[in-house]
Amino acid sequence: MTLNSRRGYRKIRLLREKAPPVTITRYRWSQLKITGPVGPDINAAIGLRVKQILAFVLITARLGLPVNNQQLIVDPPISKAAVESKPRTSRLFLTAGGSEIEVDIKLENSALQTDDVLTWVRRATKAVTTYYGRFPVRHARVTVVQNKDNDRSIHGTTWGDLDGFQGVSRMSLGRVVSRADLEADWTMTHELVHLAIASLADEHHWLEEGVATYVEPIARSQDGQLSAAKVWESMISGMAEGEPRRGDHGLDKTHTWGRTYWGGAMFCLVADVEIRRATANRKGLQDALRAIVAAGTTIDTESELLPILHMGDQATGTTVLSDLYQRWKDAPVKVNLDQLWRELGVRIGPPGMELDSDAPLAEIRSAITSRPSH
Ligand SMILES: [Zn+2]
Repeated sequence: MTLNSRRGYRKIRLLREKAPPVTITRYRWSQLKITGPVGPDINAAIGLRVKQILAFVLITARLGLPVNNQQLIVDPPISKAAVESKPRTSRLFLTAGGSEIEVDIKLENSALQTDDVLTWVRRATKAVTTYYGRFPVRHARVTVVQNKDNDRSIHGTTWGDLDGFQGVSRMSLGRVVSRADLEADWTMTHELVHLAIASLADEHHWLEEGVATYVEPIARSQDGQLSAAKVWESMISGMAEGEPRRGDHGLDKTHTWGRTYWGGAMFCLVADVEIRRATANRKGLQDALRAIVAAGTTIDTESELLPILHMGDQATGTTVLSDLYQRWKDAPVKVNLDQLWRELGVRIGPPGMELDSDAPLAEIRSAITSRPSH
């Protein structure tokens, strides 16, 4: 342990005594890295002591205590003034596997604590990591700001290859968004799913939004954050929006909201079921989407659509994605959703969502939302 003052040592000890075990190291020239079991307690303890710690930036202290793979890095350049004045601005770092996610939080007059927001981002990070088997990119940023709307809305936008990051999600919260709103939110996961596929031409925007719309509830379910019943409830209530309406010319040529988000999601659902049917439920869309990430075809790259679909097909040993695209790209193909729901064994009855384990595709339905074994 190397410390440059007795006072510094005392402060570090203070942190150590009042909070769960942490390791403090110098990260870059001007940063302290605090590693430990990150949770509400440690975050609160760190929040209270950031200013004190920052006074000892030159300290390099490794306390040699247990470390898990979650890290919180406190960045001094935004330190004193930012911590003391409003708005509260924090720059924190999450790690997921070998990836680092910078989280910049700016809160004004909110009941929300920085830790609430960080927990929300971390939860979405976990869902996406569970679905893809890894966080899709190595280096991402999430910025969270409050807007002027006096409501509980949560909006997000994600860009690829921006400001030196492979992906940047900007989340905007209405002024009265509460911790409960963040706990129920799907938007953050939706935005992070966008990292997992290349930027496509405008005419193929439906696939970017379709994958995000389809994968988001499934990823949260696989990670234990959402019940399977809720996943299917959301699919049943939204999917009909994706059907072609009058004047439709196929997914590549019809850029309405319904066709872009739910039409794209319907493409994913039908593909998932067809892949699982063709492979005796051994492979699914998830395998195709994981292969796309493994090839580095993520949001920071630009790609044509066909190579991506071929890559996905190769991973499942089928031609489902390419074939489906050929049929759907320039023609209004209607899906018999009522029949599909029946076969999957999902329906909304008087008591709520009912899942029928005797339905012909019940095993496929169950595999879609089950946590993958790897
Ligand atoms: Zn989106």
